Amino acid sequence: MTNTSYDELDDIYQEVILDHYRNPRNQGDLINPDLHSRGFNPFCGDEVVLDIELDSDGIVSDAKFTGQGCSISQAAASILTDLVQGKKLDQVLQLSQRFRELMKGRELEEEELDQMGDLEALQGVRNFPIRIKCALLAWSTLEDSISEYQAPSI
Ligand code: ZN
Repeated sequence: MTNTSYDELDDIYQEVILDHYRNPRNQGDLINPDLHSRGFNPFCGDEVVLDIELDSDGIVSDAKFTGQGCSISQAAASILTDLVQGKKLDQVLQLSQRFRELMKGRELEEEELDQMGDLEALQGVRNFPIRIKCALLAWSTLEDSISEYQAPSI
């Protein structure tokens, strides 16, 4: 919580973000990840490294992250690793797309919001345009690794 005051964020949302920041879920790395990627946000020095493991059906069987940086970037990574478990990569991409839309100001349907889990807590960050990159960092990193994974190998 440096540099910026988050007083304008709803208290409940703020609590969810801080909880993920202080008690990150799925922290660490995987020995043999199917997807591996690193993202960096020069604006506040946020870094996220993601490891994802898929089972034989292409479903996420494990996801872990390490990183450093502001509370929003790290909370977003923690929430991401929780949310993607048990999902196929196209479902993960859809979720990522929705979250991007949410951060850009689209009002989501209730059903869509339900699928967002704790990500919903990050929607208050929309009021701090410069911080949107922090919230999206982990997801951009994940999208990069998915396109790399899905790209035909030559
Ligand atoms: Zn940040």
